[in-house]
Amino acid sequence: MSIDLHVHSSASDGTLPPAAVVQAAWAAGVTALAITDHDTMDGVAEAMAAAERLGIELVPGVELNTDRTYGEVHILGYFIPPDAHGFYSLLAQRREARVQRGLKMVERLQELGFRISFDDVLRVAGGGAITRPHVARAMVEAGCVASVQEAFQRYLYTGGPAYVPRDPFSAFDAVRAILEAGGVPVLAHPGRMTEEGKQLIPALVEHGLQGLECYYPEHSPEETEHFLALAAKYDLVVTGGTDAHGPGSGHDRRIGSVSAPPGAVEALKERRERLVRQGRRS
Ligand SMILES: [Zn+2]
Ligand SMILES: [Zn+2]
Repeated sequence: MSIDLHVHSSASDGTLPPAAVVQAAWAAGVTALAITDHDTMDGVAEAMAAAERLGIELVPGVELNTDRTYGEVHILGYFIPPDAHGFYSLLAQRREARVQRGLKMVERLQELGFRISFDDVLRVAGGGAITRPHVARAMVEAGCVASVQEAFQRYLYTGGPAYVPRDPFSAFDAVRAILEAGGVPVLAHPGRMTEEGKQLIPALVEHGLQGLECYYPEHSPEETEHFLALAAKYDLVVTGGTDAHGPGSGHDRRIGSVSAPPGAVEALKERRERLVRQGRRS
């Protein structure tokens, strides 16, 4: 039995449709699952219906990538209500910014002499939010490079010849947007952050961060201990998840192979109620 609070579907860059993600989680003995796609909650309704059929708890979620001033800082948002219209239009804006970024990356690659089109990228993305790995996969399929790794190492790495920076959107912007929508903001995979990024944690707490993803496949036992201590120090909900993206995605961690502690979902719900009482919801 496990609780996996960080999983992607084909609504963003996962390879399995939302219902198939829930099915895989159920088969792995997961009792509570959060779908946390990048910049979209379009997979939640389908996942919710599948979870009801199978009798597992589905937590609506989203993952917001922020700009890279402090390295990769990703904020998870849980329990955002369906009527948070301002938040959903922000997500739409973020997705449009990704499309524009994808278009620019393709333009750069064409200038470098590659025969690749934006349609190739769209096909790989399968209607989901466009990310750099989609561009990399499209390059492989178009025969521009031999592997996704080569695409990143030679062209798409940060600062690389085909790299296009994201729009400014800070971790603080992400925390604020989730709070204003009535959701619960949690810092994803802190072990993947730079030292500079980790220094942000106290300030993020001051801005309303509610939880820390202490359990994560790439965290060493020492890192997990360290983040558990930090969560206790700052009174943060301890969460955990696999960040599974499905078979063939390049980061195919088995759903449910890492678990949040028992009671994590209830603790997130308590935070949501507390925030509503404090009037954080605008
Ligand atoms: Zn992430
Ligand atoms: Zn993720």
